[in-house]
Amino acid sequence: MAQTVEDAVRGAFLRARERTALAHFLTTNAGGYDVYAVGSSADPDTAYTVTVDRAEHYRCTCPSETRPACWHRAAVYVRRANDRARAEHLARPAA
Ligand SMILES: [Zn+2]
Repeated sequence: MAQTVEDAVRGAFLRARERTALAHFLTTNAGGYDVYAVGSSADPDTAYTVTVDRAEHYRCTCPSETRPACWHRAAVYVRRANDRARAEHLARPAA
């Protein structure tokens, strides 16, 4: 049975769970893309680069780039959501 896009995305998020610590923000490049290095779960010496453009499009340099999802992109997505939530929490005035 063919894997649907939803299955692929769900699987990527499952694999990203517990691995978001492997996603490291590197820089925002000249084009305004946020650049992250994400470690490989198979090879500790291999890291892939995930970039997120201003329109929130995710790209990854791993071999799954042609697939709808990979855990590297999912880990960066979770990481960004956590960072946003933290920033919003800190910006809130103390009760
Ligand atoms: Zn990837």
